[in-house]
This record gives sequence, structure tokens and C-alpha cells, in this order.
Amino acid sequence: MIIVSICDLRYLCLSLFKIVGPDSTIAELTDFICAAQMAKASDALMGELEEKPKQFFNDYPNHKKRRMLDYGKKQRFEKKLLNGDDEQIRLPIPMIGYGVPTEPGCITHRTLPEAAIGPPYFYYENVALTPKGVWDTISRFLYDVEPEFVDSKYFCAAARKRGYVHNLPIENRYPLLPLPPHNINEALPLTKKWWPSWDPRTKLNCLQTCVASAKLTERIRKALEDYDGTPPLSVQKYVLEECRKWNLVWVGRNKLAPLEPDEVEMLLGFPRNHTRGGGISRTDRYKSLGNSFQVDTVAYHLSVLKEMFPGGINVLSLFSGIGGAEVALHRLGVPLKNVVSVEISEVNRNIVRSWWEQTNQKGRLIDLADVQQLDADRVEHMFNSFGGFDLVIGGSPCNNLAGSNRHSRDGLEGKHSSLFYDFFRILNMVKDLTTRH
Ligand code: SAH
Repeated sequence: MIIVSICDLRYLCLSLFKIVGPDSTIAELTDFICAAQMAKASDALMGELEEKPKQFFNDYPNHKKRRMLDYGKKQRFEKKLLNGDDEQIRLPIPMIGYGVPTEPGCITHRTLPEAAIGPPYFYYENVALTPKGVWDTISRFLYDVEPEFVDSKYFCAAARKRGYVHNLPIENRYPLLPLPPHNINEALPLTKKWWPSWDPRTKLNCLQTCVASAKLTERIRKALEDYDGTPPLSVQKYVLEECRKWNLVWVGRNKLAPLEPDEVEMLLGFPRNHTRGGGISRTDRYKSLGNSFQVDTVAYHLSVLKEMFPGGINVLSLFSGIGGAEVALHRLGVPLKNVVSVEISEVNRNIVRSWWEQTNQKGRLIDLADVQQLDADRVEHMFNSFGGFDLVIGGSPCNNLAGSNRHSRDGLEGKHSSLFYDFFRILNMVKDLTTRH
């Protein structure tokens, strides 16, 4: 659930009007709120970065330290722009990155900056809609690789706008088969019977970490029951807004419902019951699913690895969540030799562990809790015992916490945002080790 203060809301509405345009939907507003919260996270992060104890920098070569400090200076300037309501979001339309299987016009060649050329391959993900500056910074740290922005609506029946910074080849990508259902009708055939002609949705919006309350769907039912046939436009508008905001689907006459966790699993490309059982609550299932990769999208990008690693792959999976990366590689048929999966949530670690066992993996899964505890010695030890890592993959938290207020700084937010730097720190260690070996 996203909670904003009245002041934030006024600011966000004004900004949304300017940036996304007067025809914006609630879903776009929701995305934008998340983006603004990212901005706040990034603000807080700067405070942290500038104040980080010396020890934070000890592991870094001088040019990296300089880079971090330069970044600090630049960000201060960008912050001024932000405070002046000057956010701009430069995102490609259509959001298909270097290409998607369903649209014509793939780009098959790009020139990577020298410093980014592997090994190891790396793949970093986060939400696309951030205020200006956030992706520039991510990209600058990740060896100046340009983000590939992709909306998963080109892969499945739900939107998910994400940026991916990676150094994978982009030629000869292929999608996972069977192709997942591409619209709501195909994905949720039982809803077809009840879908009113005045609800034009064919795709769901971004699947979030929270779902609508029973109270809301009851309120909607009551609002609709007052009319025999088609409700008046004002009621349609109200209902459609709630549908878009909460991804409600028609399950009976006048009856809307949030998606079930297994439907979310299916839409995101996970096996049915992936997050079910073993003590996990429904709330936690929605939360973990809402934060996860869309497997078909990520698998499309990772598909180039299959030919390169016929004997299998060693993966360092940071912020693994419910194992979107692991599931994508497995579904592609890339053998998983050694997977080090770092994830703070025990619930999520259990999900990945149980998936690993259920899929009879031949390789080894090592799970660790906190990326911040992953130091150079540990990385080097694992690196040596596996003979290196072929892929470092992960998406750090986007930090859209309830009660956020972009005008205030709280340490917690900074702490979460700065986890991106742990991705960079660990990737850089693996890169250095790979060069040395
Ligand atoms: N890509 C993942 C989800 C990423 S969401 C998937 O496919 O499911 C970010 C994840 O980072 C969350 O699961 C969160 O629990 C985890 N996380 C947060 N802080 C962390 C930390 N300090 N160390 C490791 N993981 C952390």
C-alpha cells in the first residue's frame, strides 16, 4: 500500500500533470508516487554517502572513490532541480528496450563501454519510473552502461516498467516457451463471462505488493447494484479507476476481486504454488510477488547465456527475493552449477530453497542473508572454490515504504537505497577477482 501525505499528494498531482500529462491514469499516478519515493530514497542516500564512515571507502580503488564523491556533487545539483518541481522522466515509448519478441524492430548491436565488457556478466534491475538522476547514477556506477527500459506488458498480461543495466549480448535473444497469455482474457478465462463491455482493459497494471480490501469490492458491488444494466458514466469512471489502481478482475455479476496469489504467480512467470505453503502468509506472498522479477522478461534477456554456458553457470544472485533469476535460468534450460543467493527475508529464502529441491537441481545452492555482510574474504573464498562467477544478478529494493514523505530524510530510507552500492561493491569485487585470475 502506498501512503502519502496531503502535501505530497498535492505535489505529486501537480508534477504528474506536468510530467505524464492531463490524461494520466491512476496507475500512472501510482507509478509516479513510487518514483517520487525513489527520489526521496536517493536524497537520503546522498546524505548517507557523504557521511559514510571512511571504512565504506576502504575497499575501493582511488578512481572509484573519486567517482563516488563526484557523484555526490552532481546529485546536490540535481536535488535543486527536484525541489524546484523540475523532474523530467526520459523513458522510451514504446518501452521495449532493444526489442521484445512481439514487436518489430529489434536492435541487435550495441557498443558497450570498455570497462563494462565481461566477464562476469552482470544484470541489475529496478523500477523504471524514477526522477531524473537516479538511473544516470546507477548507470554511471555500473560502468556507464545505458539502462534497457522494458515494460513487461510486451511479455505477459500485466505491465511492469523496469530498467535493466546489463552487459549481456543482445543478439539472438529468444523468449521462453510456451509464450505466456498476453491479455487478461487469455490469462484469466473465467473472468470473460462477467467482464462488462464498458471495462476496456486488456492488460493489468503493475502487480503490486498489496491488494484491495474486501470493503472496497463490497462498496463497488453496492454502487453497481443500484443499476440494472450499464451504470452511468460517473459510476463507470469510479469503478474503472479502482479496477486500474488495484488490478481488480470480474468474478461475478457486479463482483470484482483482487487477483489470487496463484494468479499473480502465473502472470509473473513463476510455477503455480511457488510461494505457497510452508508457513508463508497470503500477505507475505503478495509482498514477495509484488517485488519480484517478471520471469519471461528477464529470461528473454538472459536467453543468450544458454549457448554460452552449455555445461552450466555459476551465479551470484543478490537480493534474490523469490528467485526470479534462478527460475528464469532454469526455465531456459541453463544448468545451475553453483548459485549463491543472498536474500534478507527468511520467508523468501525458504521459497527459493524449496523450489530448488522440488526442481531436482544437480548443482549447489548456498543461501546467505545480508548483502552488507558479504565481504571481500567471503566473496574471494566462494570465487575460488567455484572457479569464478559467470553472472552477478539482482535488483535492489525500490524502497517505496508506507508513510514516506519525500521532503523529509529518514535514515531507514537511506539505508535501503544504499543497497544499490552493495550490488556495485560486490560486482566490482567479482570483476577484480576475475581480472586477477
Ligand atoms: N528480484 C527479486 C526481488 C528483488 S526485491 C525476485 O525476483 O523476487 C529486493 C529484495 O531485496 C527483497 O526480496 C528484499 O527482501 C531483499 N533485501 C532487502 N535488504 C536486503 C539485504 N540487506 N540483503 C539481502 N537482501 C535484501
